[in-house]
This record gives sequence, structure tokens and C-alpha cells, in this order.
Amino acid sequence: MFADIPVDVSPAYTGERIRREEMYAEFGGTAVLEKFELARVRKLEEVEDEKVTIIGPDINELKEGGSYGLGIVVEAAGAQLEPELEGVIERKIHEYINLIEGFTHLNSRDQIWLRLSKRSFRKGLNSFNYVGKVITRLYKLELPIVEKAQITFISDPAKISELIKDAREIYEARDVKARALRDEDVDVFYGCTLCQSFAPTHVCIITPQRYSNCGSISWFDGRAAARVDPKGPVFVVPKGELLNPVGGEYSGVNEMVKKKSYGENERYWIYSMFEYPHTSCGCFECIAFYIPEVDGVGLVHRGYRDVAVNGMTFGALAEMTAGGRQIEGFHGCSIEYIRSPKFLQADGGWERVVWATKDLKEKMKGFVSDEILEKVPTEVEVKNVDQLKEFLKGKGHPILKRMAL
Ligand code: SF4
Repeated sequence: MFADIPVDVSPAYTGERIRREEMYAEFGGTAVLEKFELARVRKLEEVEDEKVTIIGPDINELKEGGSYGLGIVVEAAGAQLEPELEGVIERKIHEYINLIEGFTHLNSRDQIWLRLSKRSFRKGLNSFNYVGKVITRLYKLELPIVEKAQITFISDPAKISELIKDAREIYEARDVKARALRDEDVDVFYGCTLCQSFAPTHVCIITPQRYSNCGSISWFDGRAAARVDPKGPVFVVPKGELLNPVGGEYSGVNEMVKKKSYGENERYWIYSMFEYPHTSCGCFECIAFYIPEVDGVGLVHRGYRDVAVNGMTFGALAEMTAGGRQIEGFHGCSIEYIRSPKFLQADGGWERVVWATKDLKEKMKGFVSDEILEKVPTEVEVKNVDQLKEFLKGKGHPILKRMAL
């Protein structure tokens, strides 16, 4: 199936790391502002099977060692394929690219980060054409519901800028649909272990009000994925008995977490970053981190290039957070979950948030009360913990009551 691909394609390469000095080129990541991936469901007659289109320079036309923008658009068709599956098809891009020897993929949506190794480039992996052929063939092999797939790689920065706006509108439309449901309204949740290739005991629990850590799988996407790919990484999680409504502890979730983490973790409080917290793989969109000096929580998003109020970069915080462990005080999460009324409900929710990056705070408008947002400083107003204490006092932040105690 992959005899015409110059490198191996195998699960053996999932979890591979490519260090900067080993990399031929990278696409997306923190060095590049605009990057995205998107999947669309089309009519059968609109898709030419295994067609790969490249808009902009191909890999062999790029300078070695550089960081480049990239857009990836998959168009899939099948008689039974519904637009509800777009999120699932999109997340498969991550899984399939990571099967290619010397090509890695991290994150999702407009935060993707890909690296190609020098070794694989020298073996002949010098065109997006090969990558596209692997991805389109794998869709049909793994998801029989996909009858045809074509893919476009966009490396022209002007075209990426143009298309990323449409992609963001489509992400938002998916999120709007998911926001209409509450955790109490459904009988089952969904789980995902796709990131166990990087974090072997990590288990995501996806509920209507707790979007996946990567921000790309809603409860609806989980439902669709479990239906069309029952042997895949997304599965049904019966809720079982509600053991703790504030913390979000369910007997069914605990049973599934124990089973899927191979006994490593036995309990999840899905709305807490302190008591039996949900684990974090490495694909999280944001990190909630504890600031002991004020007993509060800071929020930083992937792509933030400065240091947070505690003096740590996103990368340094991610090192503390990732790996699929239950770590009190370091919590990977998605933007949608931070917007959710259930966000860290057991820990005080937004009343516990004392600092957030400016871009992230901007994204909370309309979801979190203006009264609270006005009391939360960003990197613009506050540079360190001493300044943070002064700011919180000046604004009468609710954390003062907790600090007084
Ligand atoms: S972050 Fe969670 S939901 Fe997203 S791919 Fe990884 S395990 Fe699955």
C-alpha cells in the first residue's frame, strides 16, 4: 500500500520525537503565527480520490532548518458520510502523520506543529505529495465510510492567511453546537486515548461541558467517532453513579480511567485541578497553573511567547504538566473548557483565576462575567507576583477572601 512512499509507514513511529538539530524543516509551532488543519465532507462527485494539491512551495523548495506556515485541508466523501464527522476526520490527520517515519504532528486546529527529520528528507520524503498519499489512503483503510479523500497542502503564506479565517469560522460553528448541551443532559460521556503514544497512561474524558484537552473533539465528535470507528481510540464512557456533583466524579468514569490507564489512575474529578485531576497529555491548548503566593490560578495559552506571571514560559509549564500524570496544580485544558460554566468548578472556577494571557482573556468575553474579567490582569498590567498581589488588592479580587483565610 505504501511501496511508492520513500520512508516506512508504521505504528512504530508514533511517539517519535524530532529535536531541532535533527529537523529538516518544521511547519507551524510557536515560531509561526498562521497554521491550520481542516476537514470537510463533500459530495462524491466533488472529490478526486487520492488527489494531492500543493499551493505554494513544496518541501524540496524550502530552505533547510526553517519554520514555515502550513494549511492542510482534507476533503472526504462517502455515501454515508455526514458533516458531523468532520471533527473526527480532522483529528485523524494527527494520527496518520505520526505513522510516517521521521514526520511528527502535534496539537490541532490552528495550533498544529509538524516536523520533518533530515534523515527522512534524505531518504526521499521531499514532497507533500507523499504525505498526502499516505493520509488519503489511510482514511479509506481505517474508515470504510470514507470512499474518497483528497488533500491540499497550503504553504503560500498569503493563501494561508486567507483560508485560516474560514477555518476559524468552521471551528467556532462546531463549538457553538456543542455549547448547547450540559453534562447533566446526557447518559454517556466519551473517552479518547489517542495521545497515549506520547503519554502512555493518559485518558481524556470528553463531556458536553469539558471539551477534550486538544480542543478538537467535542462530545458530538466523540459520539460520531465511537460510532464509525468502534475499534479506534475514542470510546463510550457510561457515566455510572454521580459520586460528587461539584468535583465531577462519576463511578463509570473512574472505572474507565482505571481500565484505560492500565491501573495508573483510579479516580478523576473532572472539574478540578487539585483533587484527582484529569491528566494532561501534551496536546492541550492551554495550561491552568497554581500560583501559591496568592492561592490562585493563572492561565496561559499555547503560542504565548513571553513568560507567565510566575516567570515560566509555556514550554517550561508544559514540561511540568504533560505526560499523562495526575499533577495537582498543573492542568492542561482547552479554550472551550475554560469558557465552560463547569471550569474548575470544584476549585472556585473563574473566581480562582488571578492572571491570564491577554489573548486568552479576550477569548473569554461573553462567556465569563465582565465583573470578574475586569479583576484579572494580563501580561500587560502585571509582570511578576509582587505586582500581581498589588493589582488584586486594588481591584478587590474575590481571591482576597481566600488569601485572608
Ligand atoms: S488531547 Fe485527548 S481528545 Fe485530543 S487527541 Fe489527545 S487523547 Fe484524544
